[in-house]
Amino acid sequence: MAIILDGKKLRDKLLEGLKNKLASYKIMPKLVVILVGDNPASQIYVNNKKKTAEKLGIESVVVNYPDNISEAELLAKIAELNEDASVNAILVQLPLPAHINKQNIINAIDPIKDVDGFTPQNFGKLLSGEKPYVYPCTPKGILILLDEYGIDVAGKHVVVVGRSNIVGKPLSVMLLNLNATVTVCHSHTENLSEITKTADVLISAAGKKIIEDCMLSKDSVVIDVGIFKDEFGKTRGDVEFDSVSKKAAYISPVPGGVGPMTIASLMLNTVELFDIQNKRSCD
Ligand code: NAP
Repeated sequence: MAIILDGKKLRDKLLEGLKNKLASYKIMPKLVVILVGDNPASQIYVNNKKKTAEKLGIESVVVNYPDNISEAELLAKIAELNEDASVNAILVQLPLPAHINKQNIINAIDPIKDVDGFTPQNFGKLLSGEKPYVYPCTPKGILILLDEYGIDVAGKHVVVVGRSNIVGKPLSVMLLNLNATVTVCHSHTENLSEITKTADVLISAAGKKIIEDCMLSKDSVVIDVGIFKDEFGKTRGDVEFDSVSKKAAYISPVPGGVGPMTIASLMLNTVELFDIQNKRSCD
């Protein structure tokens, strides 16, 4: 039976450390989350982020807009938050309604307040091997989780399923920067299972149930990023957990794996941005 990569336990440990660190702060970091529309999943994610921030004493403000807000109004709000010295971190909850150009909104965030690491400046630095202000939350959380369990990716073949700007692409680059040999798969990839079988570490971020035990080699490491509701309303990941956990050496569960690590990374990033803006050393 595979060892479970316990994201909840590690999240709690990281947040405890952060809480202790923040105990010495005279001013608390401030995170502003912009939420557009009433997508129920987005509302749950934003509430979780707010609750976690509040437990740490991080000031957290959610700015809610109706679905029909214009791109110009949203850009004006971001410009205002960029100028507001009391705001350290800005997060725009995705997805946005179709009439708003997502990239225009992301591009408008001041890179030093870009808590997701999605702006062209931060993403570009990541690509060139320089240090961005902060690393994207989900990839960062996955790498912290692997590190906690002593899983070194250097020289290993890591197969990433998914190439989105928020997970697959930045994660692949971060893995390359750690000297992994990386293969990125997507919906046009032919013979997916022939590729996944060659993985030492298999990371799936497709958002659908696609990974079965016959698609991996024995004793590999399996990270499940996917989160979706099945036909019975139950939260599921990309990986067929019961069979895969009998073959893999390590597996991250859904829920309780990558999700909590993403939230922990968001909190770490908020404090890192605060420290950079206030020139404090990050210990
Ligand atoms: P996304 O933008 O929809 O990207 C999905 C990726 O999977 C795309 O690159 C797509 O290929 C690829 N794909 C889809 N079907 C495939 C198939 N049959 N074979 C191979 N590749 C396939 O999604 P995302 O934002 O990256 O998120 C992915 C999943 O992770 C979702 O379930 C999301 O909810 C979850 N997620 C979880 C966390 C967390 O904290 N746990 C954070 C972020 C996202 P194409 O590019 O060719 O379309």
